Amino acid sequence: MSSSTTDRSTGAPAPREALDLKSAVAAADPALLLLCLVQVTGDRGLLSRYNSAFHPLEVRSAYTVHEVDEVEAEEIRQLAVQVFSMERSPLENVAIPVPDPALFQQMATLGAGEEVDAEFVSILLEQSGFVSDSRVLKATKTPPPDFKVAVIGAGMVGINAGVKLGIAGFNYTILESRSEVGGTWAINTYPGAAVDTPSSYYSYSFELKADWPNYYPEGDAYLNYLQDVADKYGIREHIEFGTEVQGFRWDESEQVWVISSVQNGKAVEHRANAVITALGTLNRPNKPEFPDREKFAGTVMHTAEWDHSVELAGRKVVVLGTGCTSVQVVSSMVSQVEHLTVIQRQPHWVVPDIGYGLRVPEAEQWCLANIPFYNQWTRFRAYWFVSDNNYGKSRIDPDWPKDLLSVSATNHKLLEYCMSHLEANFGDDPVMMARLTPDFAPYAKRIVKDPGFYDALKEDHVDLQGGTIERFTETGVVLSSGAEVECDVLILATGFKLEYLSQFEIAGRGGRQLADEWGSHPKAYLGVTVPGFPNMFVTCGPNVGSNHGGGHNLTGEEQVHYALECLQHMVEGGITSMEPLPNVTEEYAARVDAELDKTVWQHGGTAHGYYRNAAGKATDPCPWRMVDYWTMLREPVLDDFLVTYKS
Ligand code: NAP
Repeated sequence: MSSSTTDRSTGAPAPREALDLKSAVAAADPALLLLCLVQVTGDRGLLSRYNSAFHPLEVRSAYTVHEVDEVEAEEIRQLAVQVFSMERSPLENVAIPVPDPALFQQMATLGAGEEVDAEFVSILLEQSGFVSDSRVLKATKTPPPDFKVAVIGAGMVGINAGVKLGIAGFNYTILESRSEVGGTWAINTYPGAAVDTPSSYYSYSFELKADWPNYYPEGDAYLNYLQDVADKYGIREHIEFGTEVQGFRWDESEQVWVISSVQNGKAVEHRANAVITALGTLNRPNKPEFPDREKFAGTVMHTAEWDHSVELAGRKVVVLGTGCTSVQVVSSMVSQVEHLTVIQRQPHWVVPDIGYGLRVPEAEQWCLANIPFYNQWTRFRAYWFVSDNNYGKSRIDPDWPKDLLSVSATNHKLLEYCMSHLEANFGDDPVMMARLTPDFAPYAKRIVKDPGFYDALKEDHVDLQGGTIERFTETGVVLSSGAEVECDVLILATGFKLEYLSQFEIAGRGGRQLADEWGSHPKAYLGVTVPGFPNMFVTCGPNVGSNHGGGHNLTGEEQVHYALECLQHMVEGGITSMEPLPNVTEEYAARVDAELDKTVWQHGGTAHGYYRNAAGKATDPCPWRMVDYWTMLREPVLDDFLVTYKS
């Protein structure tokens, strides 16, 4: 059997001899062990034999799901030691490499401690890493070498596109402005930068990694992962680094995109039959300007433009903003600075998270690397508990009391969870309680996971100020409250200006400009294709943010899959261009709006944030459950497209 956890992992697995099997198994999760045993031995009866030993907890998470009867747990461990012992070397003889749908559903239900409906089976088999993205259209033709695909950006989605285009045999080039892969993870190097989603899930489903050091990967570990994947799949030889794309225009006579860029100071043109844009929307730092900047002798830097030569230790620092970036910066540097002032314009809802900053114990790493399928089942759980399980929290219950901040029973539970975190930290400080309690429903702006932010705010040398900065002085800043704060360094943790490809000039059929078509309310069919812009596949476009669950990794995989399906249709059918029909796109956009109308993302009350545009229209969130969007993107419906064939 080749698809063992070890084979699928990136990076060196922990050596089998580093820890003995018995002690690793002793620390393993018995339910996950049982699922692995079923697959390795093929003994499906194990499920019914031990099912009653697992008692689901009322509150379950990726880390803890059951209470387990000790006698049965010990039997499972003993069986695991017997089956997974090196002498028996089970890796070559796995009975069930991929469980059939019915079996998988039964196993997943046991692993999650709750019913896993049949509709989730396909996405879970893929996202847990049991099968890699299965192509729907069976390829009968190899893409001709003169059919070129350009990918813009070599970040998480661009690398993914490169992997899949390469496997499918497409001639592709990735245009990347920087000198390295990794996109946002290469750019955001501020102290404390980390993924706030479990590592086990926030990675490619086709490239599971067994040796994440932390439950939530730190920025450099995540960047290393992306670099490793790029190396493993030979992506770099397809990348033109240092290529700053300026824009692209559709050439109707040739049926190609002409991409203008600047490479090492020189204007360069690329021609491609199709373009996949693989840029995120959070690229352009939001750098608010305040009067009298020239008077200030200290340093001002945005978190996305971190200057590592700036000394923070022993200095007076001000951090503006309290979003997910701010809390990571604040928590990581609070112990070094002489004084820290955090300026909060509007509080965010903050959840505690047990995984933040925790290292994956050696025994668990060993199991992930060496026990067949332990990694896949761990990922399954991580996915399950951060994805559609959270969907209900965004939905407004029309019958929910209007005098409450929350919008539904599940949303209220989240509110209470956040409040309990606040109370645990500031219950004896009514002033801080009041200042840190938002006046809008949770989820109306991005929820913040606490890496130690509240702890930091309790330090004697830290204070929290309200409002914003009014102006600079020679020695610091004056706040809107009138308070004057001395500082050596001002850190702008002020987020980004949302960009939907507005950094490029994009001219489609008949010269129509994407910027004009989209304005402040961009629309794309299924979030990926745009009428009048043939063979252009947008990833991270409008209304695709899976804001109820961590998952740009998943959205990217879905969209790359869809683009590949379209491209293979072009190859198979002699199609030179395809663009979605305007009425189909409008109908999709109307469905998106109607669905968003039922959510707190659209009706965010007083909440600030980038989910809505200046007119209050939610342009960022995807209104669908992740399983629904995944299903929508399985294959294109050609009738929804205006298609041109080779004459
Ligand atoms: P953000 O969520 O947009 O937060 C920006 C913060 O700056 C807010 O507190 C905002 O206050 C404040 N702010 C902006 N302009 C201001 C001004 N002129 N005066 C005073 N305050 C101002 O930005 P972010 O924290 O960088 O996060 C952006 C996104 O990046 C996240 O939503 C997430 O998608 C991603 N991210 C992910 C991770 C991860 O762990 N995976 C980590 C960091 C970031 P208001 O709320 O009042 O507007």
